[in-house]
Amino acid sequence: MGIPKVLNIWNTHQFWVGFLRELGLQPQNIVFSSDTSEDQGRTFGKGRGTVDCCYPVKCMSGHYGELLFGQKKKIDVLLSPMIHCMPSFLKGHVVDTMTCTRVMASPESIKAGFLKERDLFAENGVMYTSPFVSLSQPKLVVEQLYESLHEALDLDMAETERAVKAGYRALEQIEGKLRAHSREILQWCAQQNKPCVLVLARPYHMDTGIGHEIEAELQAAGFPVLWGQYFPLDEDLLEWLFGQEVRAGRIDHPLDISDVWVSSYSSNTNEILWCAKAAARCPWITCVLRLSSYECGMDQPTYTPTQKIVEATGTLFFKFGDLDATKPAGGIRIRTETILHYMSKYSEEIIARKRTYLPPDGPLTLAVQSPAPPPRAPAQGESMASVQGVSGGPGA
Ligand code: SF4
Repeated sequence: MGIPKVLNIWNTHQFWVGFLRELGLQPQNIVFSSDTSEDQGRTFGKGRGTVDCCYPVKCMSGHYGELLFGQKKKIDVLLSPMIHCMPSFLKGHVVDTMTCTRVMASPESIKAGFLKERDLFAENGVMYTSPFVSLSQPKLVVEQLYESLHEALDLDMAETERAVKAGYRALEQIEGKLRAHSREILQWCAQQNKPCVLVLARPYHMDTGIGHEIEAELQAAGFPVLWGQYFPLDEDLLEWLFGQEVRAGRIDHPLDISDVWVSSYSSNTNEILWCAKAAARCPWITCVLRLSSYECGMDQPTYTPTQKIVEATGTLFFKFGDLDATKPAGGIRIRTETILHYMSKYSEEIIARKRTYLPPDGPLTLAVQSPAPPPRAPAQGESMASVQGVSGGPGA
């Protein structure tokens, strides 16, 4: 089973692994494509583009082609789900948790590039399957996956249901683990009174070819890095950061974003807005790094709100927009040096000021009694994927 490691696979991969493992596939038979690279696109995707689109969607052709033609391991099925909505932590506090329409439709348009001359799936003995899945509605997911996969995988409804449950369990486990890890980082920062960086981006910016590992430069300089998607959601922390505003009636719940974002339909966009709010409040996050890809229509309306939210408490905000294939190493180095300069110069002052906005003795300073070494975050040259447990390229 080959799965292109693209778009919202980055935050749902454990669902697919858990689902397929429960159906009896061995881990070595679940193959993800490699991280995006120019070489991957040139070798396996060239001439197969069918849409003029944002950069992360354009890159998908290379991932499809790598799984089809470049396998270290022969695949029988290429699984590229059309993900319609997400099991977001904001569900119930927002209007909806849908994916970007380009994310949803991209498997169909990318597939077309491999059919336009002749059917390259059939030619390579690969069955292509692209189930439409509403991941925020587990009951519907059972039916959707049964309908689209029962022939390919010889499934019955009961085993599909068991596998879907296993998929959600696996997803919850990895998210729980990563949030706990983020909390350890924040606790370490709180106890040492040291600053850290929060990355405000879409899940696929963890792909080293899409996000260009910009945050790794800051990590290498000694500033721990958190990804917004995995911000800790423990009640004591949320109460400390947002409790005063809930009691003042400004928001209904710590996860409420209606004060800053009313049309909250898009899952990743909602999460970006909430994470901007959390970063603005958390004292030890003294810098927010905003990443956005070339031609991203979904991000455009969020640029100003996120910047204003973050800067409202004096937190540093740096945006790398229109990221595409080129990694302007020199340009990135100059900008990260600027970020490092500002962080080194102003973090102490930012932490002290942000602490005055919150009740004293928050849970992060109380929880840790003895100094611990800084928890592990992705190091330079190591993608978030390896920390998350996404397997690597074909055959990995
Ligand atoms: S969110 Fe933006 S970059 Fe991502 S798929 Fe949608 S339009 Fe493209």
